[in-house]
Amino acid sequence: MDMIWQYQFRVILLGDSTVGKSSLLKRFTDGVFSDAADPTVGVDFYARTLELEPGLKIKLQLWDTAGQERFRSITTSYYRNSVGGLLVFDLTVRKTFEHVRDWHQEVTEHVLPHHMVFILIGHKSDLAKERKVSREEAERLAAALGIRYVETSAKCNTNVDRAFEVLTRDIYEMMKRGEITPCDGWDGVKSGLNAKALYPASDQRAQERKSVSSHLL
Ligand code: GDP
Ligand code: MG
Repeated sequence: MDMIWQYQFRVILLGDSTVGKSSLLKRFTDGVFSDAADPTVGVDFYARTLELEPGLKIKLQLWDTAGQERFRSITTSYYRNSVGGLLVFDLTVRKTFEHVRDWHQEVTEHVLPHHMVFILIGHKSDLAKERKVSREEAERLAAALGIRYVETSAKCNTNVDRAFEVLTRDIYEMMKRGEITPCDGWDGVKSGLNAKALYPASDQRAQERKSVSSHLL
């Protein structure tokens, strides 16, 4: 049933290395967390389908930078073919917060003319004692960028599902308003398979007729 989805959104994770991007993805897609960091083992993309409302399934194709975080080493198509971005920083490392604006600017320059929807993620919220960035400060930055802010922990599984869901809803709402439209040559949003495409009404009626007639026999 997971194969049946109405839309696919391609979403990327952005932020300095070791802020926890791969861990967030693993937690969200596999439900696991590992303390052992292995930056060399990079899975390119992950996937999970969210049901935003009954019958409305959205497949998220989630791309990881896979150790390529060094500024400007990421290829333009990685940005351009995405509709959503999680701007991730580590709540315990101040400079990762200071770099968020650079990430935002770098990506925004590259995605035009397409629109990209962002969410700001303050990660490793479980390390409360080591916190170097206050919630108020992060909320101010999010407001300045016109995006939402969520604090997450992959370790304790805090707000991980919520972060992806909030972003997915924002993208979907913009699509409903016509501010984002699927189009050829752009992989950010794709219209996908749905029950009707797999079982067209005419076939379904034929199927019903068949079962009615076999019942009569
Ligand atoms: P990436 O380079 O941004 O992909 O970061 P990783 O996902 O590889 O994580 C870097 C390090 O941070 C690893 O040692 C993780 O175990 C650790 N880490 C990731 N998420 C969390 C979290 O929510 N809490 C804590 N305490 N550590 C985390
Ligand atoms: Mg990583």
